[in-house]
Amino acid sequence: MTAYDDQNIFAKILRGEIPSFKVYEDDETLCFMDIMPRTDGHCLVIPKTPCRNILDATPAQLAACMATVSKVANAVKKAFDADGITLQQFSETAGGQEVFHLHFHVHPRHEGVQMRPPG
Ligand code: 5GP
Repeated sequence: MTAYDDQNIFAKILRGEIPSFKVYEDDETLCFMDIMPRTDGHCLVIPKTPCRNILDATPAQLAACMATVSKVANAVKKAFDADGITLQQFSETAGGQEVFHLHFHVHPRHEGVQMRPPG
């Protein structure tokens, strides 16, 4: 398993070293808006404790993240008058991961509207 690198951008957000637009926070998790949203309302849920991705996540980290995902999904569905939600998680470069702190993408979705391309 690859070691956690605490210089990743989400670790810096957690330490308050760089800004983010926070949506929700509790003792174990943080949710903030994605800086390059692929859908209107695209936000990210992360654990506050170090975790590289799904491959080294503990059951407690996953449970905390999923509890927050559930709250945020309902909130953004309502806020963006969405028809549904897409939940994404990428692990390791081969899996599409770019930031190496566990995160879940929460996307409000509207019937017939495609996600914007990355970047
Ligand atoms: P992944 O690692 O799952 O491929 O995606 C990382 C996500 O983090 C991307 O959707 C990207 O737009 C987002 N991201 C990268 N840097 C920042 C940042 O500095 N702030 C925020 N809020 N999001 C970021």
